[in-house]
Amino acid sequence: MTEPRTFHNLIAGSWEEPRSGHYLENINPANRDDTVGLFPASGAEDVERAVDAALDAYARWRLTPAPRRAEILFRAGQILLERKADFARDMSREMGKTVIEAGGDVQEAIDMLFFMAGEGRRLYGQTTPSELPDKLCMTLRVPIGVAGLITPWNFPMAIPSWKTAPALICGNTVVLKPAEDAPLSAVHWAQVLQEAGLPAGVFNLVMGEGEAAGAPLVRHRQTRIISFTGSSEVGREVGREAAAQFKHCNLEMGGKNAILILDDAPLDLALEGALWGAFGTSGQRCTAASRLVVAKGIYRRFLDRFLEMAQALRIGNPLEAGTQIGPIINAAQLERIEGYIQSGEAEGAKLRLGGRRCTQGACAQGWFLEPTVFADVHARMRIAQEEIFGPVVSVLPCEGLEDGLEIVNGSGYGLSAAVYTQNLATALRAQRDLEAGLVYLNAPTIGAEVHLPFGGIKQSGNGHRESGPATLDVYSEWKTVYADFSGRLQRAQLDTQSGS
Ligand code: NAD
Repeated sequence: MTEPRTFHNLIAGSWEEPRSGHYLENINPANRDDTVGLFPASGAEDVERAVDAALDAYARWRLTPAPRRAEILFRAGQILLERKADFARDMSREMGKTVIEAGGDVQEAIDMLFFMAGEGRRLYGQTTPSELPDKLCMTLRVPIGVAGLITPWNFPMAIPSWKTAPALICGNTVVLKPAEDAPLSAVHWAQVLQEAGLPAGVFNLVMGEGEAAGAPLVRHRQTRIISFTGSSEVGREVGREAAAQFKHCNLEMGGKNAILILDDAPLDLALEGALWGAFGTSGQRCTAASRLVVAKGIYRRFLDRFLEMAQALRIGNPLEAGTQIGPIINAAQLERIEGYIQSGEAEGAKLRLGGRRCTQGACAQGWFLEPTVFADVHARMRIAQEEIFGPVVSVLPCEGLEDGLEIVNGSGYGLSAAVYTQNLATALRAQRDLEAGLVYLNAPTIGAEVHLPFGGIKQSGNGHRESGPATLDVYSEWKTVYADFSGRLQRAQLDTQSGS
């Protein structure tokens, strides 16, 4: 076995050791014997240096014309495209999503770079007539300063890109603190930006644990934007700290997403969608369909076929072609999921498939859990209320549209929801009444595209959106400009009354 590689933080354009001199091991979750690398265990001092570098670079970057900033983002997209296959393999190895899905993750970053490069020639504001003569009114998007970005492990390149690209195109500079379980993809992301020609200090990378490296970034007086994606528990803390300093703060958090399958659903399509929604990325997606709410008329038929299909899923090494279910990210998360399985059984849900660790063959050295299906779940059970973040799905019976909507909406989360029906009026009623930031009609709860807003309501978000032009509101302030060329004092509201 070769010695694992040691990686460093990127601060002011240089790769630096953490001040602590300590490193965290990143382990392949499909094979505990495979250490992907050693990554900095950074602390407040490293954050301080990175924020200083970002602040220093901000003075020039904010004045760099947005179309010039865009050229760098565009170049980064081209470089990423060339390395997509290599980065996807490394991602799959470090966090366990299948190599096909990892390719999708890198692709999302490419899409985001190209989309935000386009924004460099838009960043549209408004021009509008004044109520006074010889006066021009307009709004401009202006940058804010240093953006502190904190990201989860499950989309290790896509989510950093969702935050970095809009932050940079708006003229801010960045310090990224990626998840400790998937830092290699963040290193790749940083390397690509550097290679594309981003000036030193405009993008900085500080790796480490949440409390040690994430919290100081949120607390730092000079991070004027905080964009966080992760669990609602951590998001609440981050939001509280950011609010105390009146920072722009964007929180993207957990979900308890549901697919509503009505009696007239196209059954084959619904089954295929439910399978992908529930077990894609081993259920470790914020938009994973962890509840299937099925109308009584087709409940039995749906359940029997769903169990058959789930049982046939191929679990194993995510780097091998044909694998459909990879590992769970780490031992602690596997134990947490097992706790939910015990809770489901204790509350009387019927465990119809899985529920056990997979320890044979390709799974022997990793953290694997069989695809797990609970049937006859009641809406108030913990497994139907709390985010599990694993390959565990609850099937709940419902009477029809109204009852189904009540069950779907009876969750503290509101990220993504879907409905399968062939009736147009039913579909439109459902899209109106589903309490979620993302609604899919005859498609599963996963599958966002970068040019549309992404985010949730209730405990899933705090009123902002990632992706699409909507995310520019997180990374810029509106400046309203009144240009008076009348040569005299004109008073709004006072000199404008009709008849005056
Ligand atoms: P997590 O909340 O444990 O960690 C997210 C990030 O926050 C990590 O980088 C972590 O180091 C950091 N962190 C932890 N404690 C911190 C603190 N006190 N201060 C500052 N930073 C801190 O989440 P995770 O396990 O990495 O990811 C899974 C969660 O993310 C799930 O709840 C999932 O639903 C959610 N998620 C949401 C979206 C979305 O867009 N809504 C997307 C992906 C994942």
